Amino acid sequence: MTETAATAPRVTMDEITALAKRRGFIFQSSELYGGIGGFYDYGPLGAVLKRNVKDAWWRETVQLRDDVVAFDSSIIMHPLVWKASGHVDQFHDKMIDCKICKHRFRADHLPNLDQCPDCGSKKSFTDPRSFNLMMQTHIGPMEDTASIAYLRPETAQGIFVNFKNIYQTARKKPPFGIAQIGKSFRNEITPGNFTFRQREFEQGELEYFVPDDGKDMAIFAEWVDARKKWYSDYGIKADRLRFYELPADERPHYAKAGIDVEYLFPWGWGELESIAHRGTYDLDAHMKLSGKDLRFFDEAAKQHYTPILIESSAGMDRTTLTMLIDAYEKEKSVDPNGKEMERVVLRFHPKIAPQQIAVFSLARNKPELVERARAIEADLRRKFRTQYDEGNIGQLYRRQDEIGTPFCVTFDYDSLDDQSVTVRERDSMRQERIAVDRLQSYFSEKL
Ligand code: ATP
Repeated sequence: MTETAATAPRVTMDEITALAKRRGFIFQSSELYGGIGGFYDYGPLGAVLKRNVKDAWWRETVQLRDDVVAFDSSIIMHPLVWKASGHVDQFHDKMIDCKICKHRFRADHLPNLDQCPDCGSKKSFTDPRSFNLMMQTHIGPMEDTASIAYLRPETAQGIFVNFKNIYQTARKKPPFGIAQIGKSFRNEITPGNFTFRQREFEQGELEYFVPDDGKDMAIFAEWVDARKKWYSDYGIKADRLRFYELPADERPHYAKAGIDVEYLFPWGWGELESIAHRGTYDLDAHMKLSGKDLRFFDEAAKQHYTPILIESSAGMDRTTLTMLIDAYEKEKSVDPNGKEMERVVLRFHPKIAPQQIAVFSLARNKPELVERARAIEADLRRKFRTQYDEGNIGQLYRRQDEIGTPFCVTFDYDSLDDQSVTVRERDSMRQERIAVDRLQSYFSEKL
C-alpha cells in the first residue's frame, strides 16, 4: 500500500506506551514481578477512559433503543456450551517455533515459512501444531478431566443459551437484540501490540434476532450504519477507519455477510469489531446438543421458527487503545513565556476524555486563591469530570494537554476583583474570561 498523509503513522507505539505509563493510563500487569505477557492494568486515567468507551457503547446500543435489552452472563459456563459452539473442537490457532532462536509465532501471521523474521534463520521452523485458545480451569476440589471448565473466549454464548429466558421475561419478540459487556479470555500464542492482542480483554457484544421475513440483510445494513455513526460521533477520524466487507471465502460457511471494522494502527490495519450475519447457526447448534427447543413462537402465525442472528462484536480494550492513538497529536507551539516548544495533546472527544475540566489556583501559597479555586472545582464536579491542581501554569497546561482535558480554568489575582476566571480551550488554546457564576451554564453548553 502506498503511504498517504492519512496512512503514514503519526505516532509510534513506543510513544503511546510511554505516554500511557507516564500519565497513568495503562500499566503492564504484575510489573513488580517482571510482568506477565498479554495482561494489562488500567491506571486512574485509563480506568475512566475505558469506562467512558463502554458507557458510550452501552448508551447507543442499549439505553437509547427500545429494541435492545441488557444482559450479564457468567464467565464460566457448562463445558457443553463450548462443545456446541464449536470452540472445543475448532477454536485453534497453528503455532510454530523457530528451532534456532526459540521464538514462537502464529503460523498465519507469518508472510512465509522459509525464514524466521526474528533471527533470519532459514528452514528453522518446527511443523505447525494446533493450539486451543480457550483457557482452562477446574471446578471443585478434584483436578481431573471431569472437572475441566473454560473461561469464556467470547461473551456471546451466554446470550444464546439464555435466549428463551430473556425473550420470555423481557416480553420481546424478534426483531430485538440482547447486549452485554464483559471479560473474555484467549490464550493467544503471540499477544502483542500493547493492549491490541491480550489474553484477558473486554468485549461489547450485541446479538440481534430477526424473523426470517426477507428483511435480514436490510437490518444487517442498518447495524453497520449504526456502528459507523458510533465511531464518527465519538471522534474517530473517518480516514483512519475502514469497513472491510468479507468475501464469501473469508466468512464461515453459515454466514451470509460479514464486515470487519478496522483502524489504521501505527503497524497497519487492525480489527476493532466484527459485524456478522450468522443465520440460525448458533441457536441451531445449542438446540441440537441440548435437545431443548429455543425457537420463538409467533402468536399471529401460530408457528415456531428459529430467528436469524445479526451480531456486532467489538473489543472494548482495542477501542480504548484506538481512542488514545487517534487523539494523539504532536505539534509546534509556544509556551506562556513565548518560548518555542513541542506540544503533545490528546484531542479526545469531550464525552470520552477521562477529565473534562481542570481548575487551577495560580499560586500554591495564597489561601484566598486556593480556597476559591477549590470551591469552583467542587461545584463543577457535581456535573463534570474535574480535577483541582495548582502551581506553574505552563506545566499545568502541558500536563492537561497530555491527558486530553478539553478545558482548563484558572483562578488568578484578578479573579478576586472581577469574579471571573480564565478558561483555556485545549485544541485552539484560546483563552477567555468567564464570570464564575456563568461557568456551569458555559460548560453545560460546551460539553
Ligand atoms: P483477531 O483476528 O484479531 O484475533 P478475532 O477475529 O478472533 O480477532 P473476534 O472473535 O471476532 O476476533 O472478536 C471480536 C472482537 O473482540 C475483535 O474485533 C476484537 O476487538 C476483540 N478481541 C478479540 N481477540 C482479542 C484479544 N486477544 N485482545 C483484545 N481484543 C480482542
